[in-house]
Formats: sequence, structure tokens, C-alpha cells
Amino acid sequence: MNDVAAKPLAIIADDEDLGRLLLAEACADAGLAPVAFDDGPEALAAARGAGVAIVLLDVDMPKLDGISVCRALRGDPALQHLPIVMVTGHDDGTAIDAAFAAGATDFVTKPVNWALLPHRIGYILRNAASRRALADREAKVSALLEAVPDALWLVSPEGDVRWHPQTAAASPACSAVAAGGIAPDERMPDVLHAIRETAADGRARHLECRVGENDESSHSCDLRFIRSGGDSVLVVRQDTTERTRAAARIERLAYFDTLTGLPNRQQCVDVAQRMIEEALPGDSVAAVFLDLLGFRRINDTFGHLVGDSVLKRVGDVLTTVAADRGDPLRRTFLARFGGDEFVILLRGPDARHRAMRLANACHAALATPIVHDGLEFLSTPVTGVAVYPQLADDVAALLKNAETAMHHSKSDGIHGTALYAPAMSGRTRDWLDLEARLRRAVREDRLTLHFQPKFRLDDGRLDGVEALARWCDAEHGEISPSRFISVAEESGLIVELGQWVARAACRQIRAWIDAGHEVPVAINVSGKELLHADPATTIEAALAEFRVPGRLLEIEITESVFIKDSTTLHRSLDRLRSIGCRIALDDFGTGYSSLAYVTRFPPDRIKIDRVFVHDVDRSPSDAAVAAAILSLAANLNVDVTAEGVERSGQLDWLRARGCDHAQGFLLSRPLPVDVFTRQYLADGDQRSASVLRTNASASGASHSRAP
Ligand code: C2E
Ligand code: CA
Ligand code: CA
Repeated sequence: MNDVAAKPLAIIADDEDLGRLLLAEACADAGLAPVAFDDGPEALAAARGAGVAIVLLDVDMPKLDGISVCRALRGDPALQHLPIVMVTGHDDGTAIDAAFAAGATDFVTKPVNWALLPHRIGYILRNAASRRALADREAKVSALLEAVPDALWLVSPEGDVRWHPQTAAASPACSAVAAGGIAPDERMPDVLHAIRETAADGRARHLECRVGENDESSHSCDLRFIRSGGDSVLVVRQDTTERTRAAARIERLAYFDTLTGLPNRQQCVDVAQRMIEEALPGDSVAAVFLDLLGFRRINDTFGHLVGDSVLKRVGDVLTTVAADRGDPLRRTFLARFGGDEFVILLRGPDARHRAMRLANACHAALATPIVHDGLEFLSTPVTGVAVYPQLADDVAALLKNAETAMHHSKSDGIHGTALYAPAMSGRTRDWLDLEARLRRAVREDRLTLHFQPKFRLDDGRLDGVEALARWCDAEHGEISPSRFISVAEESGLIVELGQWVARAACRQIRAWIDAGHEVPVAINVSGKELLHADPATTIEAALAEFRVPGRLLEIEITESVFIKDSTTLHRSLDRLRSIGCRIALDDFGTGYSSLAYVTRFPPDRIKIDRVFVHDVDRSPSDAAVAAAILSLAANLNVDVTAEGVERSGQLDWLRARGCDHAQGFLLSRPLPVDVFTRQYLADGDQRSASVLRTNASASGASHSRAP
């Protein structure tokens, strides 16, 4: 019995001794260890034991017949695949049917062909082994299928489902039920097409399905079609919702500006490229480049949080302006290009015209101040427009030229919108060149100051002078201050320039003091300087360096800067006042300022802007403005100087209304220092303007001291 444990067992049950013996022999021949019994119950018990390879049962047995033993064994799920062979003497159809119904594997009829039986047993064993292996593999496959998140279908070329594992339940991504819920309804024609094609040519195919917009509620899946045995096609569906959403999130980060939620520069460039590629014949693509004037000032003065919310609001305003008006072909595209720059793209046969209109609409929309935390912010835009293919060859040129046009409208001081012209590129280069030259001129002390006198209107005596910077470039000659001051402001050079002006003015005051004259000098301080730098320190240092009393220096700042509710500015002004400097409000009347503001922070002097003086004696509305300024100043006890007096009619009007001082070509042009000194200080006594001395009312212009 030793080798019994090593060999697989054959359980035999037959009540006939000979039959039992021969069956045992046949089993031994087939390589098995036979264990034989003469009735059912013992065989049943033995067959339930371990190591049993096959059971051979006689149908007719006294206590428990073979069919009952077979049925009992099959009742045990663990014995599902155990080969059970029925042996019977009768060629009895009923018995055979009953045996198969009870789960018999095979049937051997008596008389048994004993020579063949071992081979038959060998075959049954091999068959059982491969069925076990198959069942085993199936178990593994279904375990695998349960673990794999993908859904599978085996379908016919017509799309009928031939096989579909239980686990492949429809996911929410593709809930449609057509052809087993493989894909959403609207994609089923594509799916069926792919199945047909794959079945026909055997090439694997791939299809992407998406449900919903590209947002957090969207679902998507990936379908693969593989021909599998005959004409069946295996459809593998992978849910890609998470992956797609993650990709969308990454795309948002790469393609959108997080502050405003608008598309960013990268997307703008891509969209412009696409617009150009998809342009129809006759179409143009236009770009509106928008920059906010003075935005940096908001940022610097009020901090980035305020700057950010102003930018966000500007983004909202522009979104509304750029919103399409129902026609998708004419859709506009708005992006935040960087910092305080925005770009609007549009395409169509009339793109240029629409772009110009859109730019104007942006100006109009941003003319209303943005209110944040009770403060009003005016972010004035400057815009430039370029058009492909007329004014640019490609995307890079389109965007660059639009920006150049924007810079152009910034530099011309009108701050409107400009359409790109090839000459502008040259001008921008000129601008940079000018900046470099100016920087050198300031450092090499090659600027000069001219002095324009101001006179008292009651007795005509000199009241002081305004120092005006002059620059004569070796190559370009005399360059107007309006031009180079804006270059300096744009480039930040204004701080150095302001420092130069303060020192030059103090040096001159000192020279005059040393010559026995006290001449108050007014210098212009740019708003850029006041809001970004610390001119008080610079000016204090200049006064100290040349031992000049503060009362001889007046600071002119433009009204639009003065009304800025900036603590830096007011601290600066307070400090200048504390060292004796007077503060003058320049260009008064032009900056829509509230007179109330002036009431709260009265300056020492108000200078009525040239534009109101120009027709003060001829235009009732200009006269009304000038009169209002004069009465306000009288109430506040503030000096008033009228600028740009060119005609005696203006002078008469001003004098009659009690204006204190006047400045203008009629009285004197700005003069080089030696001319001024000779004309007004030579006698040792400060002289008055000839016009005022003679109290001329006739053609005043001929008396002007134009050099
Ligand atoms: P502003 O401060 O309003 O200076 C007065 C301007 O009016 C000067 O022009 C002056 O030449 C001009 N002007 C004087 N009288 C008359 C007149 O009767 N009729 C007309 N039509 N114009 C008259 P300028 O020198 O060209 O300066 C232009 C602007 O440049 C100045 O305007 C000022 O804002 C700025 N600027 C000049 N020098 C400096 C400076 O040193 N620093 C700063 N920050 N700005 C300066
Ligand atoms: Ca001035
Ligand atoms: Ca002025």
C-alpha cells in the first residue's frame, strides 16, 4: 500500500467480484492506485477523500446504486470536476439517461472491452485535467476582470453583444444602453462603425468619447476595438474621466490667468495662431493691445491686493465689452497678456474696423472709475491695433505691432487708440534710443534750465521764476520737454532727472544769492516721482548742499497728482512744507478734481492752466472756470497765477478779476540763465515786465520778450 499514497486513487464500486477485479486491473494499467468496494456507501465515503482521480461505479448494487452515489458526489461543489464513469451490464437507455442526469462523466457498457479500458480511463483523466485547468484559468480571468476597472464586451460585427462579464456594468461615464451601454447614444454610430471595420480588416482601433463640457461634471472614456477569434470584436472601455479632468486642470493652469480667470498670454498666442491658420480668404485677424496707464501707481500706492482687485474688475469690464454679440463666427477672444496688459483678438472680413470700434468701446467702458473699498480708481487704457495680414506677417508680428501701436498712442500723449503703421516700429526704436541718449545727458550734466519769470499783476514786479528743463541733443537738436519728460517718466529715469533739476535749481539760487538777489524758483516735480520715489529727501539734500533756504524753492505738482489719495504723496508734501517750500498746483482746472479736495489740503499757489487762459476774455465757459478758480482761491487765501498769457486781452481780464500773478509769452518766454539775469537782475533791482510797466492794453504780443 506504500505506493498508493504516491499514485492518484481510482475508487471502484462493483458487487461482482470479477468485474471489480478487472476494473482494478485496468485502473492500475492506467497508472492509478485502485481502491475497490463491493457496494455504494463505502465507495461514496472513499470518493470524498483526498487524492481521488476517478470513480468507477457499477449501476446496480444492493445497498446504494451507482447513480445515487454519482448524484451524491456531484452535490459537493468541490467534486464538480471529478470524473465519474458508470459501468453497467445492460445496454439500457433509461439507465444511461439517469446516469448522465446524475452528472456522470462517461459510460462503459458490459461486456467491457478490457484491453481498451485503460486507454479510455487515460483519456478521461486527461480530459478531466484539461477541464480543471480551463476552469482554473476561467477563475483567474474572472478574478482579473473583477480587478480591472475597464469594461469588456465581445461583440459581433453588427454590434450585438456575444459576451460581457458581469463586472462590466455600465459606468456613469457612458450610461447609454445601446449595444450594452458601450458608449453614449450620440457616439454609437461611430462605435458601430469601428466594430464593423475592425471585424473586417483586423486592425485595432481607438475612439475617445466625452460627455458634457470640459468641467468637473464631465465624463469621458477611451474605447479600444480588437478583433478576437473569428469575426468577434473585443471592445475595451476605460473610464478616463479622472485623467481627463486632471488634464483639464493642468490645462487651466497652463492656459489661464489665475487672477482674472481669463486666458493667459500662452493661450492668446495659440488662439491667434489658430485664427490665422483657419482664416477664410478675405478674412483678417486683428489684435487690440490694451495697457492701463498708471496702473503701477495704484499697485505701489495701495498695495497689490487693491491692484489685484482693480485688475479683476478691469477684466470683468473688458469681458463685457468683448463679449460676442450672438454671431459665433465673429466671436472675440480676450486674454490677460501680462501685468496690466490685455489683448483682444477677432477675425473676419471687417476685423480691422471692428477692432478699432472695440478699442473705443474699451476706452468708453473704462472711463467710469472702478470703486473699490469706497475709493475710486480710474484706470485709463491706451490701445493699439494691428491686423494680419495687412499690417503683420505672422502671430508674433501681429501681437508685437499691436503693442507698438499702443506705445505709440502712449507716447503721443493723447492716450487714445492707434492703428499700427510700419513707421511706428522705427519710432519705438527711436524712443528707446532717446531714452539711452537722455540717460547719458542727465549723467553727463548736459541738460540746462531755462527760467520763465512770473509777475505780480498789481505792480508788475517779478514774483519769481519757473525753472524749465531744456535738452539739446547733439544729433537731434532741441528736444521738447513734453517729449523727453514722458520718456523719462516711462523709463523711470525721471527720478534721476528730478534730482538733477533740484540740484541745478538750488545751485542757481545760490549763485543769485551770492550775487545779491533773492529769486524764488519753482521746479516741476513729476507725479511719477512723487508717487514712486522720495523727492522730499532729494530736494532737502539739494537745499542743504547749496545752503538755500526752503522758502526760495517752490514745488509745482500737477493737479491730477495732488488729488491722488496717497499717503506717500502727502507725507512728501508735508515734509517739503516743513522745510519752508511752497506747493503750487500746476495745470489747475484740467484734472476733473473736486474743488472740495483743494479745500481740505489748500496749496500755496494755484496755476490756472493755459487752456482756460487761452480764451478767458472771449469764451464765457472758460471765463466761468477761471472766475470760479479765482473766487475759490480768494476764499482759501491761496495765490493764483495764470499760465500762458499771450495777449493783453487776457491780461486785462485777469487783472480785473483780481488774479495775483501771470506767466506767459506776452510777459516773457523761458530764458537761458544769462539772458534772464541780464534782463531782470542786472540793475541790482529786480525789474518788472515791460508790458506791465507800460500797462499796455494795445497789441501786447509785440512787447513780449521773445528771444
Ligand atoms: P508746465 O509745467 O505747464 O510748464 C509751462 C510750459 O508752458 C512750458 O513749456 C512753457 O514754455 C510753456 N509756456 C509758457 N508761457 C507760455 C505761453 O504764453 N504760451 C504757451 N503756449 N506756452 C507757454 P515747456 O518748457 O515746453 O514744458 C512743458 C512741460 O514739461 C511743463 O509744463 C512741465 O510739465 C514739463 N517740464 C518742463 N521742465 C520740467 C522739469 O524740470 N521737471 C519736470 N518734472 N517736468 C518739466
Ligand atoms: Ca509748471
Ligand atoms: Ca503748467
